[in-house]
Amino acid sequence: MAPLREARRRAVDFVLGLAQCVPMQNAEIPVTLKLRSRFRGKYRKHKETMCWEWIGYIHNKTGYGKITLDGRSYLSHRVGYTIHKGPIPDGFVVDHLCRNRKCCNPEHLEAIPGRENVLRGLSAPSEQSGDRRRVLHAAQVRELKKARRDGMTQEECASKWGVSLAAVAHIDDGSCWSHVKIDYDEDE
Ligand SMILES: [Zn+2]
Repeated sequence: MAPLREARRRAVDFVLGLAQCVPMQNAEIPVTLKLRSRFRGKYRKHKETMCWEWIGYIHNKTGYGKITLDGRSYLSHRVGYTIHKGPIPDGFVVDHLCRNRKCCNPEHLEAIPGRENVLRGLSAPSEQSGDRRRVLHAAQVRELKKARRDGMTQEECASKWGVSLAAVAHIDDGSCWSHVKIDYDEDE
């Protein structure tokens, strides 16, 4: 490509990139083979935290990972969510239960209404130990499911396991952790 054309293409990409900064958050994510293959291999699984840390481009102001595909930008954690859990409902944001913005492990992500995300950010984590308080592990989910079966309310469960009501509701309706069954006691 001629240098001038290349420079022009870069300028256009730059402007398009700026224009997409705002709508990026709500852009519908086309789950194509190309997107899947771009996503795969761009994260590293952390052995202890189980976070899938994005090793592709990281936005230096927000700290979120980014994928650019066919001239459009997508946040990597939203892509991870969409590929593994399905489309993000309108007006919902994808919250990191692990508080690690680079993470795109769907088990660490939860779609919640935008306003709730703001409130969560405001609530001080002081009485909880550590930042990873809300990531549940399979054994805890199994306990939580048993507690729900045995009559513990969603509110009680949310408070006992330090998760949002929405998280308990998602477990109840099977939109997450449906692979964890309480009828069987074998390990994953
Ligand atoms: Zn994580």
